[in-house]
Amino acid sequence: MLYEKLENINSRTNLPLNGPGNYRVIGNLVYTRAIEINAVRQCNLSCRSCSHSSPVSTCKEYDPIVMEKDLSTMSHFLHCEFIRLLGGEPLLHSNLLEVLMAIKRSKITDKICLVTNGILLDKLSDEMLQYIDKIEISIYPLNKSVLQAIKNNALRLSEKGIKVRLLEYSDFRESITQQSINNSGLIQLVYDTCQVAHTLRCITIDNNRVYRCPQSMIYSENNNDFSDSIEIDKLSSIDELLMFLENNNYLHSCSSCLGSVGKKFNHEQVSKDKWIESLPVTIEDGIDMECAKSLVKKLEYKNDCMTRYNLN
Ligand code: SF4
Repeated sequence: MLYEKLENINSRTNLPLNGPGNYRVIGNLVYTRAIEINAVRQCNLSCRSCSHSSPVSTCKEYDPIVMEKDLSTMSHFLHCEFIRLLGGEPLLHSNLLEVLMAIKRSKITDKICLVTNGILLDKLSDEMLQYIDKIEISIYPLNKSVLQAIKNNALRLSEKGIKVRLLEYSDFRESITQQSINNSGLIQLVYDTCQVAHTLRCITIDNNRVYRCPQSMIYSENNNDFSDSIEIDKLSSIDELLMFLENNNYLHSCSSCLGSVGKKFNHEQVSKDKWIESLPVTIEDGIDMECAKSLVKKLEYKNDCMTRYNLN
């Protein structure tokens, strides 16, 4: 069993903010390390097996007015240390300043972390930087001059006092599949070993809905089936929220997802029109069974596809 039902809510006050255990609760609020917001869905790169399916997403922005309403309502139930503002490539949002201000005004978070591929860092104005506490730059194997420009910008931002972290990716793991399967044992295995839902806790908020992971948001929209999410304006208690977050049953979206146990490959860009056919057809084709077996015993994961550097 992944989660135990803790009857006594008062015994949760000192629980860690992430990891595979129950969520921390203090007073009437659930606490977590981070909540993810997809500022836009589209991206200026096309990474093979992008876990957010950005290369084939339609161009779409999260309206800052709707975002503020969603986050303000959720702030009565949930609080996080960081909002991770990502996408797609968040710097493609046409009004990023208003997005940052909306997040701050909602009071759901202590800090904002911008997660970007770094190519458009020049778009960050000093006014925007006032709202950003940390920038996480995913560095992919691109051409040398692009990489040098990203690193120069990263250095410039760190010298302005923004905390900058570089994540250098050499590899990726397969993340989603072309088709769903019905093999409930295999789907449960993917879910039980999923670091995204259980350890990293990538709770995603989008247009009046809360999802346990970004993959379920994308699956729900593609299949017009929103049963993997809860509606923000219908949420009435933290018990309801905890029941949703600490559910031991796999999601519909897990039937076409590889969670944290996809096969590993050298990171590469693929053309957008070939992106879907580059995915494994089903979980059976894409799963790294050794990795899955090792995670069943110990829900503890070190990302072995990248190296982290803090610039300051
Ligand atoms: S869809 Fe399932 S397996 Fe995939 S990230 Fe979400 S919870 Fe994990």
